[in-house]
Amino acid sequence: MRYETIIGIECHVELDTRSKMFCGCSATWFGAPPNTLTCEVCLGLPGALPYPNRRAIELSIAAGIALHCETPEHTKFDRKNYMYPDLPKGYQISQFDLPLSVNGFLEIQGDDGTVRRVRIRRAHLEEDTGSLLHAGGATLIDFNRSGVPLLEIVTEPDLRSASESLAYLEALRERLVYAGVAHFKLEEGGARFDVNISIRFEENGTTCWPPLSEIKNLNSFRALEEAVAYESARLWDEWESGGELRTRKGKITVGWSPDQHRTYVQRTKEEVDDYRYFPEPDLVALAPDRAMVERVRAALPEMPSDRRARFVAQYGLSDYDARVLVSDRALADWFETAVQAAPGEAKRVANWVTSELLGHLKASNATLQTIKLVPEQLAVLVRLVAAGTINMTAAKIVFADMLATGRNADLIVVEKGLAVVSDEAAIAAAVDEVIAANPKLVADIRAGNQRAIGGLIGPVMKKMGGRANNAVLDRIIAERVK
Ligand SMILES: [Zn+2]
Repeated sequence: MRYETIIGIECHVELDTRSKMFCGCSATWFGAPPNTLTCEVCLGLPGALPYPNRRAIELSIAAGIALHCETPEHTKFDRKNYMYPDLPKGYQISQFDLPLSVNGFLEIQGDDGTVRRVRIRRAHLEEDTGSLLHAGGATLIDFNRSGVPLLEIVTEPDLRSASESLAYLEALRERLVYAGVAHFKLEEGGARFDVNISIRFEENGTTCWPPLSEIKNLNSFRALEEAVAYESARLWDEWESGGELRTRKGKITVGWSPDQHRTYVQRTKEEVDDYRYFPEPDLVALAPDRAMVERVRAALPEMPSDRRARFVAQYGLSDYDARVLVSDRALADWFETAVQAAPGEAKRVANWVTSELLGHLKASNATLQTIKLVPEQLAVLVRLVAAGTINMTAAKIVFADMLATGRNADLIVVEKGLAVVSDEAAIAAAVDEVIAANPKLVADIRAGNQRAIGGLIGPVMKKMGGRANNAVLDRIIAERVK
């Protein structure tokens, strides 16, 4: 590569509150009939007064702590003045110089395989705007989204590629969802990204780092990937061909056309001064109470990267199992509840959860909340297997029954007569019958084909109704075919 790509990301995330940022309207705007969730405040009518959403402030602080940020003692809201049809009051209430969270970081795996620290400059709270719908030559405005609490998380320019940008956003999404701060569903407008991108290279012995492009309002990981590749190549071409980039002083703002797979220039001059920020006169400054900050910190769950490491260290799980289990907080909680009821059997529990349980959820489109099986009963099942009371064949029958009925494992074992038969005489009799019926298999085994033994085990198990004690069965077959 002849140039280095330098990327910083501003991610707008909708907070998971019931009501909007400065009024009592519902914040669940996605899919609602247009302009049904509005009032004088979120429509921006003259004279309407905002009152801040306490939950949104707490969630913002929680997000900041989850991203290793400090929560400053003093913060405030400011007016960001600009005109746009989706913002009829002519300003957005945001935070300018005193945001709710500063100086954090996230760690990701960089393209070179090492752990990279992506610094987070700030995370500030603001209100979302309405949304515009262009149709039939007209533009329609829906104010349902207007006033929904939005957290803008801004990184330093620490990312070096589209793949590192995606790794950062994945890590960000994982933490915010885990922390219960945001649902982060891109397909429901739960997050959008502005990407600051520039190129840096050596030319005639000096380092060149021309002004950046800000790619506005990307709403999918795919769009980000394509836009970053396109814009960095475009900047390089512009420089190489002696274009305007060689003399330009400030950044440009570009949009992304997903249909044409290209960026287009929106604005060439935009400085922070243009917004004429000033402290929001309708709101008092905010000094987050230290006791509240500590309460929020204490209420945060263990973060996914820590939990994965702990699952490996504490339960002896593979990286893969830890990753699968921790990918969903509810699943990880379910697993740990089961392990607590089956101490020392974490590996067995993990196997059941990652293969049988997840397989069932996927096949039946069910969730942990809708199934009848509870973790304590999986623990009972695992203990029955570990104790040799039932074998795996029976265990799968019990498992299916528990999923269907929610009954106790012990009860199912008794009722269906699934307990292992260890009676040597009964097993030996079954083995002898099968051996007598399969002289060729026996000859193969005696000729040295040990794998042929499997051909005997199946029929014996069948005769025993799937309940023969495996260890006893293996031993008796080995004795008989010696
Ligand atoms: Zn409202």
